[in-house]
Amino acid sequence: MSAEHKGPDADILIVGGGLSGTMLAVQLLRLPGQRRIVIVESRSELGRGEAYSATELGHTLNGNAARMSVDPDDVDDLTRWLTDYIAAGGWPESDQQQVPVAELFPPRGIFGLYVQQRLAEARLIGERCGSTVEHVRGEVTDLQTNAAGLRLTLASGEHLTGRFGVLATGMFAAARTPQRDSNALNAAAVDPWDVNAMGQLDPQGRVLIIGSGLTMVDAVVSLEQAGHRGPIDVFSRHGLLPHVRRQPPTWPDFLAADLNIRSTRQLVRALREQCARAAEQGIDWQAPLDTVRVHIPRLWSQASDLQRRQFVRHVRPWWESHHHRSPPPSAHLLDRLIDEGRLNIHAASLLSVGSAEAGQISISVRYRGQDKATTESGAALINSTGIQYDWRRVDRALPRNLLARGLIQPGPLALGIAADAGGAVMDAEGRVSTRLYAMGPPLRGLWWESTAVTDVALQAKALAARLAAVSNVPS
Ligand SMILES: Cc1cc2nc3c(=O)[nH]c(=O)nc-3n(C[C@H](O)[C@H](O)[C@H](O)COP(=O)(O)OP(=O)(O)OC[C@H]3O[C@@H](n4cnc5c(N)ncnc54)[C@H](O)[C@@H]3O)c2cc1C
Repeated sequence: MSAEHKGPDADILIVGGGLSGTMLAVQLLRLPGQRRIVIVESRSELGRGEAYSATELGHTLNGNAARMSVDPDDVDDLTRWLTDYIAAGGWPESDQQQVPVAELFPPRGIFGLYVQQRLAEARLIGERCGSTVEHVRGEVTDLQTNAAGLRLTLASGEHLTGRFGVLATGMFAAARTPQRDSNALNAAAVDPWDVNAMGQLDPQGRVLIIGSGLTMVDAVVSLEQAGHRGPIDVFSRHGLLPHVRRQPPTWPDFLAADLNIRSTRQLVRALREQCARAAEQGIDWQAPLDTVRVHIPRLWSQASDLQRRQFVRHVRPWWESHHHRSPPPSAHLLDRLIDEGRLNIHAASLLSVGSAEAGQISISVRYRGQDKATTESGAALINSTGIQYDWRRVDRALPRNLLARGLIQPGPLALGIAADAGGAVMDAEGRVSTRLYAMGPPLRGLWWESTAVTDVALQAKALAARLAAVSNVPS
């Protein structure tokens, strides 16, 4: 590609075309100015990434349509799009939920179509200023920077050059990511999102699942859909299930009213008080909790590493299960399976994974409160341990090479990578790059919550404005 242009191949090279990379392109295309944007994405389609490539209708968003707009200036954007989509005959199963469109939990695959349509519209806006976006299909394996910009190396051996680069590489789902230290679990486990693999399992066989978060919920939905009717045993350190998402009323923003609340202890105490007050009025605890969300980036970035560690150790399991909630249809399925005695949730740590013999796989776990290990065996094992945020443990070419070149350094608590508040990445010496930026899940350590649709939508808008400003200056 380099040979076709006199200058760099792109003004802005985006690595990763999931929700983050695509929404960044959408925001850039909407801004005045002429720029060439290239997205390098290994998947065949932009706008889907891991989350929105889902083909299972039961794999829905975990928030209702009114909460999942990709336009930070228009909260009703998804609701309107979905209304038109359903009116045109899309998603006929939506009438089973029997609620207004704003309260529907759409399948994630359909959400991917919405993102793609917003990209198609933004392309038309961009064309008027001469801005373009191109999808180069491939995996970026290496990246180098120089005074003029950066140069990507693709697995095919091709190179691409650009004036500015953005790492929108998303999440490294533990089940799909080779780990540098241990791969035993993945080697033995079924992929939690492999719908076809679920259909191959013995329908009456016992399934063991490691991890009890939203990935587990997806796996249980797929097992049920594939006709599995045997027992399912879920093991996680705390044995906490995600709560079901309800539609609580609005609640006063108590953190905005008291900026002295900063430490984890102060936050937990204040939140408990607010929840007790809500309970006295017969109001759902989700109402006060939902007001905390917008303050998390500020609280996390102001906190010391010690305070962040305390949060991760003491509050994280509770935060994950209360804040990252299950869509109601999935939660109801889990409730039913628990009532039927088919689904059991255990508080137990995984110690080791044994080898599979005669169609049975065994694991060694330690139940909470016990000293000795217990062996459990089943017909299949599923890894639902969530996301690997520590890039040093991810055995993929790009993270490995970026770290080896000293172009990035781990973020706070080794979560993702370090960057300034506007997403410019920090090298191994702590210098802030003028060429390389990051957004979305790689900034987990900077903001804590940096993965959900609303986080990504806000970051895309802010980063587009920053990139437009720097890329308008000739270099
Ligand atoms: C299963 C699942 C369900 C989710 N459900 C919800 C939900 O209901 N609500 C919500 O708010 N959030 C949800 N999330 C969070 C979700 O990740 C974000 O909303 C969003 O998808 C993040 O987008 P992303 O583009 O940053 O990451 P990703 O979706 O992970 O996309 C990153 C893309 O980068 C590409 N890529 C990575 N490295 C390279 C490379 N070296 N070269 C080329 N391409 C590369 C990958 O192929 C991938 O397509 C979910 C996440 C997952 C994993």
